[in-house]
Amino acid sequence: MRLDKYLADMDFGSRKEVKQLIKNKQVAVNSEIVTSDKFQVKEQEDSVTLEGDEVVYQKYFYYLLNKPAGVITATVDDFEATVLDIFSDQDFRSDLFPVGRLDKDTEGLLVITNDGALSHRLLSPKRHVEKEYLATVDGIMTSADIGLFSNGLKIDGGEVCLPAKLKIDQVDEANNVSTIRLVLHEGKFHQVKRMAHAVGKEVMYLKRIRMGHLYLDEQLDLGSYRELTEDEVKLLE
Ligand code: URA
Repeated sequence: MRLDKYLADMDFGSRKEVKQLIKNKQVAVNSEIVTSDKFQVKEQEDSVTLEGDEVVYQKYFYYLLNKPAGVITATVDDFEATVLDIFSDQDFRSDLFPVGRLDKDTEGLLVITNDGALSHRLLSPKRHVEKEYLATVDGIMTSADIGLFSNGLKIDGGEVCLPAKLKIDQVDEANNVSTIRLVLHEGKFHQVKRMAHAVGKEVMYLKRIRMGHLYLDEQLDLGSYRELTEDEVKLLE
């Protein structure tokens, strides 16, 4: 791989900016200053340093974020805090993006990566990757609702949802509140809220706990993130 691509991939600037770093003699390969941006680097073997600090090559980054309410699922926004604002300067890269979206008031599992192909696979409508949610709703969920959800519920606007698995975890008749688990195979806009609404209930709290085979790490505090392990990345493939 060309040295300028190596450095640009590692987010040290645009191709133009890293070429300048190389020209300025700030970059060495195997302890020798290199001044040609076309210099070929073997990512797995060569040691590349920028001003003496080693630059280890890693093409793709995968993070698990326990999204808190109050931040939007976007990369940048002029007015609102985004999920990328949670990242430390050290971990932040300009090519990171969230896989899919959670509403501003939704919490839980969000994968953040720079791997477009993985994101595409996870979100492809053809693959029906499961997403599991926990929700607290205003109203009493019933076994009739379980049937409606499993038959393919019609929501506002006339859209028909794919069959979804609803499990009622708890019903608090006195306070007219239910706690549910819902497994979806698609990701329509505000889908959980619209499905609850279609059976006369309102979502008061929503958290995603699973995507495909990847579960939210309960040790991960709300608003924290960590890199996925290799095994966890495999679970998403
Ligand atoms: N369904 C919703 O209504 N909101 C989310 O954030 C995710 C799924």
